Amino acid sequence: MKANYARVLIDRSIRRELDYAIPESFAEKIGIGSRVRVPFRDKAALATVVAVLEESGASGIRPIEALVGDKPALSAKLLELARWMAAYYCCSIETVMRSLLPQVIRKAEVGWKKQLFVRRGRAASAEEIEKLRKRAPRQAELLEAVAQLHEPKLAADLLRETSLDNQTLRALEKRGFVELREEAVERDPHADEQFVPTTNLVLNSEQATALAAIEKALEAPAKAKPFLLHGVTGSGKTEIYLQAIRWALNNGKTAIVLVPEISLTPQTVERFKARFAEAQDMVAVLHSHLSEGERHDEWHKIQSGRARIVVGARSAIFAPLENLGLIVVDEEHETSYKQEEAPRYHARDVAVVRGKLEGCVVLLGTATPSLESYFNATRGKYQLLNLTQRVDDNQMPLIRVVDLRQEKRKAKSLTIIGDKLHTAIIARLEKREQTILFLNRRGFSTSLLCSACGEARECPNCSVALTFHRTASRLSCHLCGHTAAVPKKCPACHEDALIYSGFGTEKVEAHVMHLFPKAEVRRMDADSMTRKDAYRETLRAFRAGKIDILVGTQMIAKGLHFPNVTLVGIINADLALHLPDFRAGERTFQLLTQVAGRAGRGETPGEVFVQTFTPFSPSIQFARHHDFTGYFEQELEFRERCDFPPFRHAVLLTVRSAHEGRAKFSAETIARRLREALPAEFILGEPTPAPLEKLQGQFRFHILMRGEAIVRLSRLVRETLDKLPMPEDVIASVDVDPYQLL
Ligand code: ADP
Ligand code: ZN
Repeated sequence: MKANYARVLIDRSIRRELDYAIPESFAEKIGIGSRVRVPFRDKAALATVVAVLEESGASGIRPIEALVGDKPALSAKLLELARWMAAYYCCSIETVMRSLLPQVIRKAEVGWKKQLFVRRGRAASAEEIEKLRKRAPRQAELLEAVAQLHEPKLAADLLRETSLDNQTLRALEKRGFVELREEAVERDPHADEQFVPTTNLVLNSEQATALAAIEKALEAPAKAKPFLLHGVTGSGKTEIYLQAIRWALNNGKTAIVLVPEISLTPQTVERFKARFAEAQDMVAVLHSHLSEGERHDEWHKIQSGRARIVVGARSAIFAPLENLGLIVVDEEHETSYKQEEAPRYHARDVAVVRGKLEGCVVLLGTATPSLESYFNATRGKYQLLNLTQRVDDNQMPLIRVVDLRQEKRKAKSLTIIGDKLHTAIIARLEKREQTILFLNRRGFSTSLLCSACGEARECPNCSVALTFHRTASRLSCHLCGHTAAVPKKCPACHEDALIYSGFGTEKVEAHVMHLFPKAEVRRMDADSMTRKDAYRETLRAFRAGKIDILVGTQMIAKGLHFPNVTLVGIINADLALHLPDFRAGERTFQLLTQVAGRAGRGETPGEVFVQTFTPFSPSIQFARHHDFTGYFEQELEFRERCDFPPFRHAVLLTVRSAHEGRAKFSAETIARRLREALPAEFILGEPTPAPLEKLQGQFRFHILMRGEAIVRLSRLVRETLDKLPMPEDVIASVDVDPYQLL
């Protein structure tokens, strides 16, 4: 077939594929997945080739203007994945493409970092040198240094070593004595780090059994089901990933490892870089803190085939690796795998689909499986692998539940650190062991109330109270970022009766410093970690034993491994439990188990204190007894009774507008149309104000749908919305398999 025409997807949501003629000059290079620049209306637009055709029935075909990059940016399989995502997640394929290709690759603006290299030019005669010495001694000096060069040298280095300037160098270039050339160099975010190479550890018998099953699947991946590796914290899951990847590499395959953004710590990256240290470029790292330039370079490292392992956050699932042998999703239960803007995909579920398309093995690992995944394992869709023991047979930490109702009665006021936790901290300080205190809420006081009129300071844009931050000395909204000065008197009734109530990590830190003045206390949350390397630095200090007590939010709950931490205090376990969300119990169970997993990872067994007002809630009791299956069974019963996932898929439609009445009216109209469009097998909820009624100045209404045939439901919803144009100031968005129900 002769490649005459290319069918392309323009980078704009026009929901149509267009045909363009392929100029002779790059007919050889163009293929499915190539990026091109095409004329579109009266401008140029970037686009992706989705098919190459011999003939086209379209009229008025124009030629492609340019080819971007030598090699297709996407494989045919990734394009197929994009089509699946558009159908499943009820969005346009152009929207999917935005996530599939990093912006820096799509826009093709940031290129390689260019640096100036110096090499020797023509030889200078003795006469010329003599003349230079007299008239331009600095040029002569530089020329002498250049004469010593055997290979091109970075101009910047040469000038620094000789203490000479750029002008001198340019003068030499003019005379032809040096050649200057710009060359691309790669930005390596880990260039200044040294990795001590590690080798495979000898596995214990549970690990060996699990790895054997994975290797068998790697040998015959076409028939393999995804694995769910359920291993308690510290059971050696990562070691299994490392060895499975080694197997894949040895067999000419590549691998992707997804890690939640928050646990993509230097510690994690280091473990992968060190194990695969045989080539500098072997491991590429993708996460949201890379500069555009770094992202560009990492991406090309992957696309060119030099990097054969990609470790990254959510969007790394789209890494353009060829010959994919294994996809690992660590902490598969993490909700951060779900993208909260369109395309609203879940990276774990996309991983399973990509695995199927590529014919590779998918390995989901976690200490606290999501209900969905464990359900899939019990139904035989996934293959379950268990690690029940910690490596070195360390004991699981002892979890003690502290009833805050009693503490409150005793103390006659709100308790931050109860008596029992207090005593336990003192014991740790005496033994020079470390403590982690966890609270899932930032700030100092969670609200500022007027005791005269009862009014709380609310965000003008959102229906939540403003949080008081003492360091910044401002009130701030955690949803939209709005900040306000702290009023002296109540702005509503003008009484001097303002009181602070509730507390966040900032207050816990202050309180702990007050209780234990000799202890070194540090806080780790989004407020205290604004500087780029603050996170790394704090972790390093903590590991070196320079911090006694670390106070923090979920930032410290995940994946960290500190042998000297023998005590974990959960200041208030109820924060997640009372959210109007069917996953509230699941999240609490996971959080408690994960946070508890931070304790006693060394020789000394750990101790965990869980402070709560609801000591008998099932998620707390099951977590306390490390009883995942018990928890799973009772939670599953509840989900089945209510027709919630994993029994039915959910689709959440949100209608929002700055105008409350219009949002409500549109939601009601959509609901009416959906009632006509959806067959009885689907459950359609009434339009209701969202639990978070107002967000960023927009009033929000929800319509919740549920059903088993999710792709069909997605299509029906899309069709209904397409036929119903929204007023300009109303936006309807669709979330398939939603995690954010507020
Ligand atoms: P998980 O990922 O399940 O939390 P890790 O893989 O991080 O567990 O293992 C915890 C610690 O135990 C790590 O320091 C790791 O190097 C070590 N480890 C893992 N497997 C073994 C083994 N078979 N023998 C000795 N040490 C091991
Ligand atoms: Zn707000």
